[in-house]
Amino acid sequence: MIKRLAPDISTRIAAGEVIERPSSVAKELIENSLDAGARTISIQTEQGGKSSFVIEDDGCGIPCAELPLALERYATSKITDIEDLERISTLGYRGEALASIAAVSRMEIRSKAAEAEAGGLIRCEAGEITLHTETPAKPGTRIQIDDLFFNLPARRKFLKTSSAELRRIVQIVNDYALIHPEVTFRLYEESKKILEYTGAACVEDTLLRRWGRQTKIYHSESQSGSLSARLWWNPIPDSRRVVIMLFVNGRRVQDAAIRAALSTADAAAYGEWLVLLDLPPQDVDVNIHPTKEEVRFRRSGEAFKIVYDNAKAIFAQRHSIAAPPLPP
Ligand code: ADP
Ligand code: MG
Repeated sequence: MIKRLAPDISTRIAAGEVIERPSSVAKELIENSLDAGARTISIQTEQGGKSSFVIEDDGCGIPCAELPLALERYATSKITDIEDLERISTLGYRGEALASIAAVSRMEIRSKAAEAEAGGLIRCEAGEITLHTETPAKPGTRIQIDDLFFNLPARRKFLKTSSAELRRIVQIVNDYALIHPEVTFRLYEESKKILEYTGAACVEDTLLRRWGRQTKIYHSESQSGSLSARLWWNPIPDSRRVVIMLFVNGRRVQDAAIRAALSTADAAAYGEWLVLLDLPPQDVDVNIHPTKEEVRFRRSGEAFKIVYDNAKAIFAQRHSIAAPPLPP
């Protein structure tokens, strides 16, 4: 017999699709902080975010009166019309993250909008608002999530150990710190500092930290019309693996064509790559994958070519350095 699910059940199922584990909370909330223009983002977790996840930022804040809307599904300040999808410059736009997290946790938001006199506080349990009031608060936003999936036991059961969940959060923070070297990121687990990025670095500094201080990093960048590409490579001798960190307009994504561009440039493109592509929002569709992990380029040939050309330039640098000195 086919039955309609009660709304609270369908909401929880839908939420479980957006939010898989604590690191999905980290990703969504870091993106919100970045969209809010934060320069400092600090995260505190307990049990790898399973029992508690707190994020604080110094971004634009949310007016107290809008807090209930922020928790509502499909409510967003980032787009208004379907045409806006063509020019998205923010990481978020679907208005799903806070609603999804709220549906499967106990959540508290404290926030103060830059121009507001007072701040606001809202509490919510399994999607139901239990408190909404004005309160003194410092500018910015603090969001606390307790007991993720407490009402979705099937999902809770699949969470890994605290240290495994924490590792995934570390990866997410590392990724955003890499492409936002101007932002300060801090991560604490059970009050112990796990990560700190001071916000006064450049991509190379952060890469050296990630790939090891002794790494010889190759770099090439170029611009073609409104498309810009920046590539970094850490060749790993004796490895047969190609690890690509690809970011398109600040989003971490996967793309088969970009992978192909690297291996076409040189079949031995082994090692770690950082590829940053930036192009006007109307030239790339980010709306094809539920967690935005894939994008579609309007002119995919151009994206392929610019990555291919830069990879070629990098291999040329390597060969000129590796070549034996000319005899006297
Ligand atoms: P989206 O990011 O797709 O708009 P979310 O559910 O993630 O949807 O957030 C809903 C809205 O809440 C955002 O559009 C934004 O207006 C507001 N918001 C969320 N997090 C923050 C934050 N850290 N600072 C300021 N505003 C925020
Ligand atoms: Mg968002």
